[in-house]
Amino acid sequence: MSRTAAVIGSGFGGLALAIRLQSAGIDTIVVEARDKPGGRAYFWEKEGHLFDAGPTVITDPACLRELWALSGDDMAQDVELLPVSPFYRLSWPDGTVFDYVNDDARLIEQIRALDPADVEGYRRFLDYSAGVYVEGYEKLGAVPFLDFRSMLKAAPQLARYQAWRSVYSIVSGFVRNEKLRQALSYHTLLVGGNPLTTSAIYALIHKLERDGGVWFARGGTNALVSGMVRHFERLGGEVRLGDPVERIETEGGRASAVRARSGWTGRFDAIASNADVVRTYDMLGDARGRRAAARLRRKRFSPSLFVVHFSTSGEWPDLPHHNILFGPRYKELLGEIYRGNGLPDDPSIYLHHPTATDPAMAPAGKSTFYALAPVPHLGRAPLDWDKEGPAYARHILQILEKRALPGLSERLEILFHFGPAEFESELGSHLGSAFSLEPLLTQSAWFRVHNRDDKIPNLYFVGAGTHPGAGIPGVVGSAKATAGLMVEDLLG
Ligand SMILES: Cc1cc2nc3c(=O)[nH]c(=O)nc-3n(C[C@H](O)[C@H](O)[C@H](O)COP(=O)(O)OP(=O)(O)OC[C@H]3O[C@@H](n4cnc5c(N)ncnc54)[C@H](O)[C@@H]3O)c2cc1C
Repeated sequence: MSRTAAVIGSGFGGLALAIRLQSAGIDTIVVEARDKPGGRAYFWEKEGHLFDAGPTVITDPACLRELWALSGDDMAQDVELLPVSPFYRLSWPDGTVFDYVNDDARLIEQIRALDPADVEGYRRFLDYSAGVYVEGYEKLGAVPFLDFRSMLKAAPQLARYQAWRSVYSIVSGFVRNEKLRQALSYHTLLVGGNPLTTSAIYALIHKLERDGGVWFARGGTNALVSGMVRHFERLGGEVRLGDPVERIETEGGRASAVRARSGWTGRFDAIASNADVVRTYDMLGDARGRRAAARLRRKRFSPSLFVVHFSTSGEWPDLPHHNILFGPRYKELLGEIYRGNGLPDDPSIYLHHPTATDPAMAPAGKSTFYALAPVPHLGRAPLDWDKEGPAYARHILQILEKRALPGLSERLEILFHFGPAEFESELGSHLGSAFSLEPLLTQSAWFRVHNRDDKIPNLYFVGAGTHPGAGIPGVVGSAKATAGLMVEDLLG
């Protein structure tokens, strides 16, 4: 008789896990609260524009291709990945522009322009990044840390790469130009980490990008999500949309069934949750669940994001796809995002311009954008977002008009935003956090939510709150770790 599994939530982690289980012959159903799959990679279609809600920078495409290769399929039949260059355009208020490209000669030339002495330091940083990439990502990225022993085994590598230091501190040991320090350390923000406090292990992202490239799915990240769903359904899996799970039932200490808001109930041999880790423990509805959720609430959660979606008439041929507009302050701004209780006046902004790579993201002769600024989560800044949201959106657009999109206000068409309140209400995210638990060393690997629950042997976790953490490669790695356990537990 075939074994059955439910995956609660259809984020990248949930879908990757479901594909792995179904590929192994386990009958799997994904139960998603919202009307579309993808989780943070949701999307809206408005007046012919495609607005991706979340991830836009696709790195390590190999971890995605693996999901098709498991069943002898080819990702290319469902998804086309387009290379993006420059990876990012970084700019500062004084007019300095740095195109972060994968062409070594062009990269070095720009580093030399910032400070000739830093060329040598950058080379040594790249070696360091390559080392942590092998140890932290290749070897440990998809390994479940279920006991403290596994953590001790990783300790020598952590010590060798001085994992207790922050990314910014490690980078500063290699290069002295402040802008270059920012350029080589901001990446942790993409997984919810403060460059000033996130473990130096995360410096591996630089090598990940340089080796694997930066990609964009034709049709947007939503096309990658629908490609994953198509592949999963072709394998025989089922996706149930628009029906939030309210209860994970247990019997005799084991997870037995999920009950959704509609009243639909399904019994399964194993249950995995891709939903928020705090909310998942609440779904148990018993004393153990309440205790586990309370313990998690005491941990540090990553900040939220404020995302302004907009469209314009006309095209912007000189503007690349990914743009980082650093604000006038770096360390102080990070302090406000991670510890403050209000909205920074001078945010650093990530500007996403997908029509630069795929003009079909907008009707002919128009452009689609989003601008994103990290903001404190609702636990630190419990603001009235109905009031603050529209004003903050206008503030961000003004900065963009000055620094990247001259004449924007005359060409602006569609405008809407998604912020901390929506992360909480639409995605069920604790405190409206955009990336779940903050990726601190003390909240990583064994210290993060385990891929299998410690007490309920057939309850599993996948996604940003588990090891290794947020970001598409992270949650797809967590799916590999969790699937390994589930397949072993269910099929022996
Ligand atoms: C704006 C933004 C930009 C980002 N940019 C990038 C990027 O460029 N590159 C990158 O690699 N990463 C990026 N990230 C991070 C990355 O998107 C996330 O870490 C990753 O997508 C999270 O995946 P997940 O598997 O944890 O699931 P999530 O995306 O968190 O999905 C969880 C799913 O569970 C569902 N759910 C919750 N509760 C229930 C319930 N009770 N019943 C049923 N379903 C439920 C939710 O509706 C949701 O669909 C970005 C994140 C954001 C927010």
